[in-house]
Amino acid sequence: MDGDLAPLPGLLALAERFDAWLVIDDAHGFGVLGPQGRGSLAHFHLPHSRRLVYMGTLGKAAGAAGAFVAGDETVIEWLAQRARTYLFTTGRQPADRLRAAASLDLITHGDARRQHLMQLIAQLRDGLAGTRWRLLPSPTAIQPVIIGDNHEALRVANALFQRGLWVPAIRPPTVPKGSARLRVSLTAAHSEAQLARLVDALPGTGMSRARQRLSSP
Ligand SMILES: *Cc1c(COP(=O)(O)O)cnc(C)c1O
Repeated sequence: MDGDLAPLPGLLALAERFDAWLVIDDAHGFGVLGPQGRGSLAHFHLPHSRRLVYMGTLGKAAGAAGAFVAGDETVIEWLAQRARTYLFTTGRQPADRLRAAASLDLITHGDARRQHLMQLIAQLRDGLAGTRWRLLPSPTAIQPVIIGDNHEALRVANALFQRGLWVPAIRPPTVPKGSARLRVSLTAAHSEAQLARLVDALPGTGMSRARQRLSSP
């Protein structure tokens, strides 16, 4: 929800030190971060480790469905035999597999798309710098604009929607109290022109004076 990155190098070092597993749910990193979209571990240049259990979904950047777990053979065997949600789920269709394989191919050869995404992230951050719209320090495709008040967040989201921009308002309990926000989710399929429209439209949503004070850093 903050678009931030977990401090994986430090966490892995702790796992090594205390003989523990490190389970990584890289739903938003896989396909987006690192060379060839290999995810958060590749982003941090972390080496292979038997302590890692890496989960990725094929439902986000991959645009398909399903998910995977990668890890030590013992862990995978244990999951295959004991994980109830896996055991009692119908196997995926052959078409799903083809779709996933096509997605993986696009992801592997998608450095240009990822570069475009990074440019969009920079465009949004530059566009809102120095305005009253406060972004969290996120280096990822999730760029939350902190509003604070729940009703105000909904109101701004609705105002944007009226202008053809779909930016959902996220409120507690999904995020901490008082940190209601607009959740801007950028993708490589967005264009610079679309992003310029968002940056232009935000001031026009007429945040009230009280809220302006609340949301300024
Ligand atoms: C979306 C998401 C998932 C689940 O993804 P599926 O599409 O159901 O495979 C798991 N973890 C996190 C952090 C997510 O954002």
